[in-house]
Amino acid sequence: MYRAKEKGKNRVMLYKASMSSAPHDMESELYFALGRGEFELYYQPQLNFATGQLIGLEALIRWHHPRLGLLGPGAFLPVAEESGLIVQIGEWALREACRQNKRWQDEGHPVTPVSVNLSPGQMHASNIVGVVYEVLEETGLEPRYLHLEVTESVVLQHIERVKIKLGDLRNLGIQVSLDDFGTGYSSLSYLKELPVSAIKIDKSFIQDIITGTRDGVIVSAIIAMAQSMDVGVIAEGVETAEQAAALRERGCDLVQGYYISRPQPAPEIERLYYGTAAR
Ligand code: C2E
Ligand code: CA
Ligand code: CA
Ligand code: CA
Repeated sequence: MYRAKEKGKNRVMLYKASMSSAPHDMESELYFALGRGEFELYYQPQLNFATGQLIGLEALIRWHHPRLGLLGPGAFLPVAEESGLIVQIGEWALREACRQNKRWQDEGHPVTPVSVNLSPGQMHASNIVGVVYEVLEETGLEPRYLHLEVTESVVLQHIERVKIKLGDLRNLGIQVSLDDFGTGYSSLSYLKELPVSAIKIDKSFIQDIITGTRDGVIVSAIIAMAQSMDVGVIAEGVETAEQAAALRERGCDLVQGYYISRPQPAPEIERLYYGTAAR
């Protein structure tokens, strides 16, 4: 299951886990969660609000914890990131998202790309380009149906190295989006150097788009800039009709958020967007 070069690291992790005094050490629980099939991907629809068309699904990981119940990523991804387990867990999520998307295509459902998040640990520590290539080969998913989301802050940390990796990913035929855009305290000028196909306006700006005048101005500026650079723009965290309308007024039709739908398990996506369950 693990590549040889990662074996050493895993052995250290197991040792550390067994030394822990906590009765339920999350790191060791995470270590076994993969093999026990405790992870599930939920999918959140991305909509063209002008046409009502489904334009994509973002895969968001969940953990069915044996004692604690259903956990969101906020409860365990920091531990996964810290321990290095994110490399295996993230690879599982990538493979599962590609496999599910290919299955939906094979079943004759309308094809929409799937977006998969890449964490800092995945971007920096692993041979992410090779992993993505292998997963596409293995699942048979065409690269154009895979979108990867990397946060603005990850890119800013090691801009030269990340630029090369993103370029390599784009060369595989994959789309790359810049996630949480606007939170990275960046100058906007670096955007034109990055091989990204879209930016996702962070939900913190959307939440105050109506009440906070400054957020409204920032959102307008981000949209205008994206359009001038011929980069797609999607708003995340859209919770109300008013927010969706305000975005449309500013020229952003692509939205994702609770107003459209919460993240849903795959069977719910099938029921809601693909008519009935698969034949
Ligand atoms: P993100 O990529 O920024 O994902 C958007 C988060 O906002 C999701 O939280 C989603 O459920 C939530 N959200 C969606 N619509 C709304 C809304 O209208 N209002 C509000 N308040 N929130 C909304 P979630 O699922 O808890 O994921 C948290 C983060 O965990 C993600 O943030 C992403 O960075 C990370 N993540 C999730 N799945 C994966 C994965 O498979 N791999 C990696 N590396 N990271 C993941
Ligand atoms: Ca994301
Ligand atoms: Ca985001
Ligand atoms: Ca985020």
